[in-house]
Amino acid sequence: MQIDPRDLAICAGDEGAAAEGPVPAAPPIVQTSLFAFPDFASLLEGLHAEHAHTVYTRGRNPTVQAVERKLAALEHGEACLCFASGMAAISAVMLGLLRAGDHILFVNQVYGPTLQLARHLERFGVEHDVLLDLEPGLVASAMRPATRLVWLESPGTMLFRVLDIPAIARVAHEHHALVCIDNSWATPLFQKPLELGADIVVHTGTKYLGGHSDVMAGALVTSAERVHQLFHHALLLNGGILAPFDAWLLHRGLRTLPVRMLRHQSEALRVATFLRAHPAVRNVFHPAFHADPALVEQQMHGFSGLFSFEPADASLANVHRVIDALEHFRIAVSWGGVESIVISPERGDAAFLEAQRIPRGLIRLSVGLEGADLLSADLDAALKGTR
Ligand SMILES: *Cc1c(COP(=O)(O)O)cnc(C)c1O
Repeated sequence: MQIDPRDLAICAGDEGAAAEGPVPAAPPIVQTSLFAFPDFASLLEGLHAEHAHTVYTRGRNPTVQAVERKLAALEHGEACLCFASGMAAISAVMLGLLRAGDHILFVNQVYGPTLQLARHLERFGVEHDVLLDLEPGLVASAMRPATRLVWLESPGTMLFRVLDIPAIARVAHEHHALVCIDNSWATPLFQKPLELGADIVVHTGTKYLGGHSDVMAGALVTSAERVHQLFHHALLLNGGILAPFDAWLLHRGLRTLPVRMLRHQSEALRVATFLRAHPAVRNVFHPAFHADPALVEQQMHGFSGLFSFEPADASLANVHRVIDALEHFRIAVSWGGVESIVISPERGDAAFLEAQRIPRGLIRLSVGLEGADLLSADLDAALKGTR
């Protein structure tokens, strides 16, 4: 429930601006597509090692590199690559590391488009399975000889179930598979998966890291060697780069990440606790209510503001009624911004929800910065049907 003081320092810290004279408090935006060299030989040298030189902004750009350094430091990883969106980072991992014949094992409910990408990769000969039973022993039996990547989300999408990350990483490594985890929910402040055995961490920067619903971004953090490989095989070729101005917005978001996360955490916990005791609510899905608190405590240092609940009346009509009656939640996709947001995976498709093991009528809340009293009163009125 606490943020490491070193992380506070990284978030607030300077960006290595010019050493001489007064320096700007905010990093410069290097808004250029290309960099000119003093002579042809230097250009050729730059082109020869484009990962290490600013030659062309589809490769390296100083504004992007500044935010990459910050994210790598926060994740306790060697290096980071930023992308135009979370999905661009996720695509880079899969396209950059896999080949025909490889198999991906997904463990837990994972972000929908991540699975859609895996389905698309079937046409390139990459197969996958999704495991929704989370015991590490079952992960072992789901591994195939061709499993090259074990993909985790913890807490997972929609139900926020927590995985035993170190145990699953051990199983994956015994089978010579890499472990990639989507750490968007917890942010590096509340969970450092590389220390728990993961090999690669991916993030959407669009949610908490940016934090203001005004930028799309993504990132991956892993070893310097794998970043080198993914730079050449994925970033540079797929071209899904983070633009300098968007990198600057992401960087600005990181500067206030600790204060925002503490507020998201406290207010969401209060709203979740309120809903848990509400007669019109059957169940609240938040990692704080996990059946094994010791597991959660071992690998997480705090909670963010995204959770879900199952209304006692799980009908589609009630989902529409409750959502439409809320006055302080925006009805929208995405999450992680300063404004509270509501959405539901309930669209009347029982087969889809059953396959995902998501309860009927589930409602997901992203608790912003407005404060729990206001939001709880709003939910109370909407659930009681007094509007
Ligand atoms: C939104 C999201 C993504 C994708 O990020 P984009 O920036 O929208 O591409 C990936 N993982 C999770 C868990 C997300 O919620």
